[in-house]
Amino acid sequence: MQDPELTYYPKDGKRFTEEERKALVKKARPIFLERVSYYAPLMKVAPGRITVRTQKTRWGSCTQDGNLNFNALLLLAPQEVLDSVVVHELCHLKYMNHSKYFYFELKRFYPEYKQAQAWLKENGGSLIKMLPKETLRRKRRRFWLFG
Ligand SMILES: [Zn+2]
Repeated sequence: MQDPELTYYPKDGKRFTEEERKALVKKARPIFLERVSYYAPLMKVAPGRITVRTQKTRWGSCTQDGNLNFNALLLLAPQEVLDSVVVHELCHLKYMNHSKYFYFELKRFYPEYKQAQAWLKENGGSLIKMLPKETLRRKRRRFWLFG
């Protein structure tokens, strides 16, 4: 599934142009929709709206009404990492917290979630740095692994 066009990572530390960033979001949307439609029935959850953006602080998030938001930069990560974030957010449709029940569920549907988390901790920063400068200009916020 990994798109050869997306092998620009690590791209010699170069930033995306605004056009490349937009293209990434466009490319990411159907992929996230596909992964959500794969996992949601398995996990017996029904997500609301799916939004894909390039954020600097989150890989994914879930609202109280069950809408999910994903970071398009995950397309540049190994597919397991993208999947683990999808499953993480889908688990929030059952538990809006990071309780042991939440992690029990995450482990059940994505047993290798810790490796994915470690990958993001190690490489996530360099993905964020690939965003165009304009997007980075805003006030620096604390970096969250997951929402
Ligand atoms: Zn979370």
